[in-house]
Amino acid sequence: YVILDKKICDDNPGAVPEGAVELEKMGMSGNIEVDAVVLASGFKPFNAEIKETYGYRKFNNVITGLDMERIKREKGAIVRPSDGKEPQKVAFIQCVGSRDERLGNLWCSHVCCPYALRMAENIKYKNNESEVTVFYMDIQNAGKNFPEFYEKCKLNQRFIRNIPVDIYPMEGDQLRLRYMAEDDGLPVEEVFDLVVLSIGIMPNLENSSLAEIFGIELTDDGFFAGKDNLNRTSTSKSGIFIAGTAEGPKTIAASMAHAGQAAGEVMKHLGVS
Ligand SMILES: Cc1cc2nc3c(=O)[nH]c(=O)nc-3n(C[C@H](O)[C@H](O)[C@H](O)COP(=O)(O)OP(=O)(O)OC[C@H]3O[C@@H](n4cnc5c(N)ncnc54)[C@H](O)[C@@H]3O)c2cc1C
Ligand code: SF4
Repeated sequence: YVILDKKICDDNPGAVPEGAVELEKMGMSGNIEVDAVVLASGFKPFNAEIKETYGYRKFNNVITGLDMERIKREKGAIVRPSDGKEPQKVAFIQCVGSRDERLGNLWCSHVCCPYALRMAENIKYKNNESEVTVFYMDIQNAGKNFPEFYEKCKLNQRFIRNIPVDIYPMEGDQLRLRYMAEDDGLPVEEVFDLVVLSIGIMPNLENSSLAEIFGIELTDDGFFAGKDNLNRTSTSKSGIFIAGTAEGPKTIAASMAHAGQAAGEVMKHLGVS
């Protein structure tokens, strides 16, 4: 994000996205000749407002995973936006924006299961009396130690294999969720103090224009396409490489590993390895 009008941003600090940079402070533009380009332009987090029935930005205590990380960083604890109090009953809704046929976003984002479960554990650690429920379709295995971590989470958290469709506001800024019971498939309504939407990784909106500029392909999902399954850092165009989530959803560690592979391919291309 680039701040174009500093005054507007100074007047509305809450509206300025994290990591935004001031245009005046950026370097000058110019032309340089290069033998290789690595596109590492990343992803966009899913815009939870698209899932209208969840009331994101309408109901104070419906937040996203990113909001939750920010709240924890700023307040030192996970608190309700409405009153700054620690929530007693928290729901996590997984796969918001990912694995969603209606939206045409069929991919798994890989990161939202681990971050949601980590945050849920943090809530339980801070307040053992709190109740945390995770509504899910599948829990994505996120690496070597994840299965043990998931088993530990099952002891502290309630897992319900159903994704709620609607959230309704209640008095006192609580929220009512409607979902289908796992055993008999009948509708259940339950009240929570805080609902966390586990948003995932979407292709960067600039991908199609960048693909056109650099003459490379996009996958059906809108990420940059690797050359083939064995080489996912080279592209169909010689000298153009891709790294990180620009190629598809990844954790930070996987993005770094992918970037390392891209650097190796660039060295080969330049004839220095
Ligand atoms: C809600 C959420 C929670 C997450 N939690 C975790 C977690 O707990 N652990 C974990 O491992 N991963 C987590 N992730 C994933 C993590 O954010 C990514 O793995 C990581 O950011 C990917 O790095 P990247 O460099 O590929 O992309 P990015 O982090 O998106 O970086 C791309 C950079 O390129 C810049 N850029 C974009 N377009 C251009 C352009 N045209 N010109 C110049 N620069 C450009 C962007 O401004 C950005 O700085 C989470 C993701 C989400 C959405
Ligand atoms: S990581 Fe988990 S929450 Fe995210 S899309 Fe995959 S299964 Fe859904």
